Amino acid sequence: MRTNITAITSYANALAAAISPTAFIILLIPYGLRWGLTSLLVPLHTPILSALIFSAATILGIAAHEALHVVGFVMFGHAPWREVRVGIKRSGIVTPFARCHATLTISAYRHAALLPGVTLGLIPGSTALVSGNGWLALWSALMGMGALGDVATFWLLRNIPSSTRICNGAIVGEGKFESEGAGEKI
Ligand SMILES: [Zn+2]
Repeated sequence: MRTNITAITSYANALAAAISPTAFIILLIPYGLRWGLTSLLVPLHTPILSALIFSAATILGIAAHEALHVVGFVMFGHAPWREVRVGIKRSGIVTPFARCHATLTISAYRHAALLPGVTLGLIPGSTALVSGNGWLALWSALMGMGALGDVATFWLLRNIPSSTRICNGAIVGEGKFESEGAGEKI
Protein backbone atom coordinates (compact mmCIF):
# COMPACT_ATOMS: atom_id res chain seq x y z
CA MET A 1 0.00 0.00 0.00
CA ARG A 2 1.28 3.49 -0.83
CA THR A 3 1.36 6.02 1.96
CA ASN A 4 1.58 9.71 1.24
CA ILE A 5 3.85 11.37 3.81
CA THR A 6 2.89 14.87 2.64
CA ALA A 7 -0.79 14.18 3.35
CA ILE A 8 0.09 12.87 6.83
CA THR A 9 2.21 15.94 7.72
CA SER A 10 -0.55 18.27 6.44
CA TYR A 11 -3.11 16.47 8.59
CA ALA A 12 -0.73 16.55 11.59
CA ASN A 13 -0.18 20.30 11.20
CA ALA A 14 -3.95 20.99 10.93
CA LEU A 15 -4.51 18.91 14.06
CA ALA A 16 -1.73 20.79 15.88
CA ALA A 17 -3.12 24.19 14.85
CA ALA A 18 -6.49 23.26 16.33
CA ILE A 19 -5.10 22.31 19.74
CA SER A 20 -2.19 24.80 19.96
CA PRO A 21 -3.76 27.40 22.33
CA THR A 22 -4.87 24.67 24.75
CA ALA A 23 -1.50 22.92 24.51
CA PHE A 24 0.35 26.18 25.26
CA ILE A 25 -1.55 26.52 28.54
CA ILE A 26 -1.07 22.84 29.42
CA LEU A 27 2.70 23.13 28.80
CA LEU A 28 2.88 25.96 31.36
CA ILE A 29 0.97 24.10 34.10
CA PRO A 30 4.02 22.26 35.59
CA TYR A 31 5.93 25.57 35.82
CA GLY A 32 2.91 27.41 37.23
CA LEU A 33 2.36 24.77 39.91
CA ARG A 34 6.00 24.96 41.02
CA TRP A 35 6.84 28.68 40.71
CA GLY A 36 3.49 30.47 40.35
CA LEU A 37 2.13 31.95 37.11
CA THR A 38 2.96 35.55 38.12
CA SER A 39 6.70 34.82 37.80
CA LEU A 40 6.13 34.26 34.05
CA LEU A 41 5.62 37.99 33.50
CA VAL A 42 8.39 39.53 35.60
CA PRO A 43 10.16 41.84 33.08
CA LEU A 44 13.81 41.27 32.24
CA HIS A 45 14.42 45.06 32.13
CA THR A 46 11.73 47.52 31.04
CA PRO A 47 8.54 45.96 29.64
CA ILE A 48 9.26 47.31 26.12
CA LEU A 49 12.85 46.01 26.11
CA SER A 50 11.61 42.70 27.48
CA ALA A 51 9.02 42.44 24.71
CA LEU A 52 11.69 43.21 22.09
CA ILE A 53 14.10 40.61 23.52
CA PHE A 54 11.33 38.02 23.71
CA SER A 55 10.20 38.73 20.13
CA ALA A 56 13.77 38.46 18.82
CA ALA A 57 14.31 35.21 20.74
CA THR A 58 11.07 33.81 19.30
CA ILE A 59 12.07 34.67 15.70
CA LEU A 60 15.49 33.08 16.29
CA GLY A 61 13.76 30.05 17.80
CA ILE A 62 11.55 29.61 14.71
CA ALA A 63 14.64 29.73 12.46
CA ALA A 64 16.49 27.32 14.77
CA HIS A 65 13.50 24.95 14.63
CA GLU A 66 13.78 24.53 10.86
CA ALA A 67 17.59 24.40 10.98
CA LEU A 68 17.36 21.55 13.49
CA HIS A 69 15.11 19.56 11.12
CA VAL A 70 17.82 19.94 8.48
CA VAL A 71 20.50 18.85 10.98
CA GLY A 72 18.28 15.85 11.80
CA PHE A 73 17.98 14.84 8.12
CA VAL A 74 21.78 14.88 7.86
CA MET A 75 22.58 13.43 11.29
CA PHE A 76 19.98 10.63 11.45
CA GLY A 77 19.34 10.04 7.75
CA HIS A 78 22.87 10.73 6.40
CA ALA A 79 21.33 13.00 3.78
CA PRO A 80 23.91 15.05 1.84
CA TRP A 81 23.87 18.76 2.75
CA ARG A 82 23.09 19.65 -0.89
CA GLU A 83 19.81 17.69 -0.61
CA VAL A 84 18.44 19.61 2.38
CA ARG A 85 17.29 23.18 2.76
CA VAL A 86 15.18 25.60 4.75
CA GLY A 87 12.60 27.77 2.99
CA ILE A 88 9.54 29.94 3.54
CA LYS A 89 6.16 29.12 2.00
CA ARG A 90 4.55 32.44 1.07
CA SER A 91 1.17 31.34 -0.29
CA GLY A 92 -1.53 31.90 2.32
CA ILE A 93 0.02 32.04 5.80
CA VAL A 94 3.81 32.62 5.70
CA THR A 95 5.23 29.31 6.89
CA PRO A 96 8.89 28.30 7.26
CA PHE A 97 9.78 24.72 6.39
CA ALA A 98 12.71 22.31 6.17
CA ARG A 99 12.95 20.02 3.16
CA CYS A 100 14.94 16.92 2.26
CA HIS A 101 15.18 15.52 -1.26
CA ALA A 102 17.32 12.51 -0.30
CA THR A 103 15.94 9.05 0.48
CA LEU A 104 15.49 8.54 4.25
CA THR A 105 14.38 5.72 6.50
CA ILE A 106 11.12 6.48 8.28
CA SER A 107 13.08 6.13 11.53
CA ALA A 108 15.44 8.95 10.51
CA TYR A 109 12.47 11.08 9.42
CA ARG A 110 10.73 10.54 12.75
CA HIS A 111 13.88 11.48 14.68
CA ALA A 112 14.40 14.59 12.50
CA ALA A 113 10.77 15.53 13.18
CA LEU A 114 11.23 15.39 16.96
CA LEU A 115 14.66 17.07 17.19
CA PRO A 116 13.46 20.73 17.40
CA GLY A 117 10.77 19.95 19.97
CA VAL A 118 13.28 18.18 22.21
CA THR A 119 16.06 20.77 21.74
CA LEU A 120 13.98 23.96 21.91
CA GLY A 121 10.98 22.83 23.96
CA LEU A 122 11.71 19.92 26.27
CA ILE A 123 15.29 20.77 27.34
CA PRO A 124 14.79 24.53 28.00
CA GLY A 125 11.35 23.81 29.50
CA SER A 126 12.89 21.36 31.96
CA THR A 127 15.63 23.91 32.73
CA ALA A 128 12.99 26.58 33.41
CA LEU A 129 11.12 24.19 35.70
CA VAL A 130 14.28 23.59 37.74
CA SER A 131 15.59 27.19 37.72
CA GLY A 132 12.34 29.14 38.00
CA ASN A 133 13.14 31.29 34.95
CA GLY A 134 9.72 32.50 33.78
CA TRP A 135 10.92 33.88 30.44
CA LEU A 136 12.54 30.58 29.55
CA ALA A 137 9.33 28.79 30.54
CA LEU A 138 7.24 31.03 28.25
CA TRP A 139 9.70 30.75 25.38
CA SER A 140 10.03 26.97 25.63
CA ALA A 141 6.22 26.62 25.80
CA LEU A 142 5.98 28.67 22.58
CA MET A 143 8.66 26.50 20.96
CA GLY A 144 6.88 23.38 22.24
CA MET A 145 3.64 24.64 20.72
CA GLY A 146 5.46 25.13 17.42
CA ALA A 147 6.62 21.52 17.53
CA LEU A 148 3.14 20.04 18.02
CA GLY A 149 2.73 19.28 14.31
CA ASP A 150 6.03 17.38 14.39
CA VAL A 151 4.93 15.39 17.44
CA ALA A 152 1.62 14.59 15.71
CA THR A 153 3.54 13.51 12.59
CA PHE A 154 5.75 11.26 14.74
CA TRP A 155 2.65 9.72 16.31
CA LEU A 156 0.81 9.18 13.02
CA LEU A 157 3.87 7.46 11.52
CA ARG A 158 4.57 5.32 14.60
CA ASN A 159 3.28 2.01 13.19
CA ILE A 160 5.32 2.11 9.99
CA PRO A 161 8.34 -0.25 10.26
CA SER A 162 11.49 1.76 11.08
CA SER A 163 13.49 0.48 8.11
CA THR A 164 10.86 1.61 5.56
CA ARG A 165 12.42 4.08 3.17
CA ILE A 166 10.73 7.23 1.94
CA CYS A 167 11.51 9.53 -0.95
CA ASN A 168 9.80 12.64 -2.27
CA GLY A 169 6.64 12.50 -0.22
CA ALA A 170 5.82 8.79 -0.48
CA ILE A 171 6.58 5.45 1.12
CA VAL A 172 7.26 3.08 -1.73
CA GLY A 173 8.30 -0.12 0.01
CA GLU A 174 11.70 -1.73 0.31
CA GLY A 175 14.34 -0.42 -2.06
CA LYS A 176 12.01 0.92 -4.75
CA PHE A 177 11.32 4.61 -5.09
CA GLU A 178 8.92 6.73 -7.06
CA SER A 179 9.10 10.47 -7.40
CA GLU A 180 6.13 12.43 -6.16
CA GLY A 181 5.67 15.87 -4.64
CA ALA A 182 8.66 18.03 -3.86
CA GLY A 183 10.61 16.33 -1.08
CA GLU A 184 10.04 15.59 2.59
CA LYS A 185 8.85 18.71 4.35
CA ILE A 186 8.44 19.18 8.10
ZN1 LIG B 1 8.92 21.29 12.65
